[in-house]
Amino acid sequence: SESTSPYKRILLKLSGEALMGEGKYGIHPPTLTRIAEEIAELSQAGIELAVVIGGGNIFRGVAGATEGMDRASADYMGMLATCINSMAMQDALEKQGLKTRVQSAIKMEQIAEPYIRRRAVRHLEKGRVVIFAAGTGNPYFTTDTAASLRAMEINAQVILKATKVDGVYNADPKKDPTARRYRTLTYMDVLKQNLNVMDSTAISLCMDNKLPIIVFDLGTRGNIHRAVMGQQGEFGTVV
Ligand code: UDP
Repeated sequence: SESTSPYKRILLKLSGEALMGEGKYGIHPPTLTRIAEEIAELSQAGIELAVVIGGGNIFRGVAGATEGMDRASADYMGMLATCINSMAMQDALEKQGLKTRVQSAIKMEQIAEPYIRRRAVRHLEKGRVVIFAAGTGNPYFTTDTAASLRAMEINAQVILKATKVDGVYNADPKKDPTARRYRTLTYMDVLKQNLNVMDSTAISLCMDNKLPIIVFDLGTRGNIHRAVMGQQGEFGTVV
């Protein structure tokens, strides 16, 4: 796949749940390997790749708060969950022969570099895949917002938002057979109709900085590649 991609540098946002495979919790190693293979294919095609991974397969702050925990404490636990996922992804990517770095928004020197923007950009220029761990480092935020923020900071041309459905629908396609996929949407459509793309903070950030988002289904092998090679409209939803 010689780089016919319109994008030179992309930020891939994976939810924690993407790593669960068919499981209900945690990390499913074969799924992790499959995603790593797809990332390796892009990296080997010369595309600079940064990855933000969520933590929802392990812990979500809101869930902790519902159980009576202090919300900020629970959110920090959620951020630590993203670090576990980031290390798992780093391992899987290295098994594919890629050079990688994890940069964490919360310092943990023994296992990850601290987040340093210029250093992250340098890694990307050298062809290393950079995994951003611990979200934004702040409670009350999400890894979607971290993805938008980091994408802007590293001058990524697009956010690839991996989900379980192939784009954004006007109803739940699993429940409603007449549900239709949007090929394109404006940021305002997403915000006003409260469409399930990313949370509103993340969308606003993208809107203010004109950063496009491609929503696609990670479940089908080869979809990351398809999303990057710009079969837009035919595939997923572009915001
Ligand atoms: N989190 C946070 N600040 C951030 C990013 C994440 O507090 O900047 C916490 C929050 O509690 C969240 C959890 O980490 O529930 C896991 O992240 P997220 O829910 O975004 O993961 P995903 O849904 O993508 O798996």
